[in-house]
Amino acid sequence: MLAVNFHSFRKKLSFYRKSYRRFLNKTEKNPPLGIDKLTPIIAKEVWEEVDCLSCANCCKKMTPTFTKQDLKRISAHFNQTPEAFYKQWLEKDKNKDMVNVNQPCQFLNLKDHKCSIYEIRPVDCAGFPHLTKKKWVEYAHIHKQNIDYCPATFKMVEKMVARIEKV
Ligand code: SF4
Ligand code: SF4
Repeated sequence: MLAVNFHSFRKKLSFYRKSYRRFLNKTEKNPPLGIDKLTPIIAKEVWEEVDCLSCANCCKKMTPTFTKQDLKRISAHFNQTPEAFYKQWLEKDKNKDMVNVNQPCQFLNLKDHKCSIYEIRPVDCAGFPHLTKKKWVEYAHIHKQNIDYCPATFKMVEKMVARIEKV
């Protein structure tokens, strides 16, 4: 596993962003044969190469969506009511989802990039960036948003482009 190199990530992002977004649009509408079988194989390669503890960009620049169960579990951990926890840390976004007010996330330790509530973190955090969560056609629009922030998502799209274009 390699530490994330942000200089190289940003450089590649500015160079390939448009073409990768085009690839995601195209494959969302017309998924190449076998793309859903290829996704977990590529995701495995990505996680062998990307060290999230050297990155934490999702915790710094994005927000998880909190479910009601997350709110109940995490507020109980702090001996707070869900209402008090919500008032202290959360707000509703334009989709009426519960999200963090603060960025970076209040639970991120900026020194070591560790999550201070790791064991009870929101389910959304535990699965992020959801590389294999759904079929490609159902999730390509989310990858399209995440490539701007998440080097792992960027790498998956980069690898997918290389494999699909080889076929
Ligand atoms: S709860 Fe933890 S994993 Fe989730 S965004 Fe905050 S610091 Fe990151
Ligand atoms: S999931 Fe993506 S943005 Fe978050 S720490 Fe890992 S590589 Fe970075």
